[in-house]
Amino acid sequence: MKLTKTDFKKYLICPECLWLEKKKPEEFQGGEITDFLQKLIQDGYEVEEKVQEMFPSGVFLNDKEDGILIKKTQEELKNKGTIFQATFKSKRGLFLKADIFKFNDESQKWDLYEVKSSSEIKTDLQHNHIKDICFQKITVEECGIEIGNSYIIHLNRDYIRKGSIDLTKLFVSKEVSDEIEKVLPEVSYHIDKALELLKQDNLNPSSCSCLYKSAGQRCDCFSYFNPQVPEYSTAHILRGKKLEELVEAKIFDPKDIPEDFELTETQRVKVQLQKIGRSIINPINIQTTLGKLKYPLYFLDYETLLKPIPVLDGYSPNSQLVFQYSLHIMQKDGSLEHFEYLASDLENSTSGLVESLEENIGKVGSVLVWYEPFEKTRNIELGKLHPEYAEFFKDVNNRVYDLMKIFKKDYLMPEFRGSASIKKVLPILVPELSYKNLNVQDGTMAMSVWEEMLSTNDEEKITQLRKDLLTYCELDTKAMVEIFKVVSSL
Ligand code: SF4
Repeated sequence: MKLTKTDFKKYLICPECLWLEKKKPEEFQGGEITDFLQKLIQDGYEVEEKVQEMFPSGVFLNDKEDGILIKKTQEELKNKGTIFQATFKSKRGLFLKADIFKFNDESQKWDLYEVKSSSEIKTDLQHNHIKDICFQKITVEECGIEIGNSYIIHLNRDYIRKGSIDLTKLFVSKEVSDEIEKVLPEVSYHIDKALELLKQDNLNPSSCSCLYKSAGQRCDCFSYFNPQVPEYSTAHILRGKKLEELVEAKIFDPKDIPEDFELTETQRVKVQLQKIGRSIINPINIQTTLGKLKYPLYFLDYETLLKPIPVLDGYSPNSQLVFQYSLHIMQKDGSLEHFEYLASDLENSTSGLVESLEENIGKVGSVLVWYEPFEKTRNIELGKLHPEYAEFFKDVNNRVYDLMKIFKKDYLMPEFRGSASIKKVLPILVPELSYKNLNVQDGTMAMSVWEEMLSTNDEEKITQLRKDLLTYCELDTKAMVEIFKVVSSL
């Protein structure tokens, strides 16, 4: 029996889900390492490496075999220094690799340090950093070593890079020994329960409790435990008491919601869409909205690099660096021009980009984006980084129109399944345009491809990666143009 820190975190989020993953891996659908997840893992490593620089005498333990790591740890403990990845397994199977394990000469005890790439200590269900480090303390103490103090080291959201990184300002180290004591009885109880659960060979399939939660809160295992619920269900439209009422009545399909069931206007439209199985389109509203746009129309999209450790001056932890844009310009007669920019080095990435944008976005005309908070926030940040362009970006933001809004209110199709995401809308409205065959498929991939492009000297490779990035970003604005043509032709 082995219960790792990751297993325990999963148990706290959902015991059934952990059981399925461990006992029936062939049925488990949540184990896929997506590009985004891979990026988060990589970010975590980068942050950990940076923190290790603050412990220069630390010894890094590394081996594929857990048994060897445990032995190496026992050897290293004798030196009473600092260990990275000290590994422990208790008799009943609690398993842990501690980020930083440091002997405290004053207290003559070992201190635990947990490194987080977040900008705060989280205590929500998905990420409970205190329970996480409490599990570590319990594990180590079960192995016969008393823990002195426990700390969480996380990024400082107020840090702004200026010159070389100041580690003492980039990170915040907070002692959480008292907080751990408070949750210790609860964590001990849950550890016992988790170990018991993993001994069970069967689990009552009806024990999954997310039936009463909205669809966004369910995990990938939901359909295993609830095969009676259709893929698009009442939980995609309703929440709280109303959802409860329907679950009690065993109504899961929106089509089965009684006509007299009380719904808000938005909910009623979504239910109606499923019942009639045809689109609900309001051409008058759409024409009125589009009629307010000023030509030429600028269809704009950014690609950004998101890094936990700021890569340039002026950036904070986990902020976004804009390295690419695509811009389609449509004149009133429908003629179209395309402009783009892709930074070829890190240092001057945004200065070249803002210059190019200002050249190509004229003083008149609406700027169309999909999901305005993203582009608008980047514009504000770019204005701060390059104050000489602050007015330009302010003006651009005043001219932004979010094309996505039409698909929230006036152009609804049952196939969108309640979503207004461009990835849902495009394949239905403009099926001939697709991301499927592109080498870059999404924003997360674009980040890693750009990083790869900057890190290689292989000219052939650089040419190919540039081409892949430009093709991807161009498709983003081309998609908006084609969707715009569909809605404006109503
Ligand atoms: S959907 Fe079911 S298995 Fe998944 S988290 Fe919710 S209760 Fe757990």
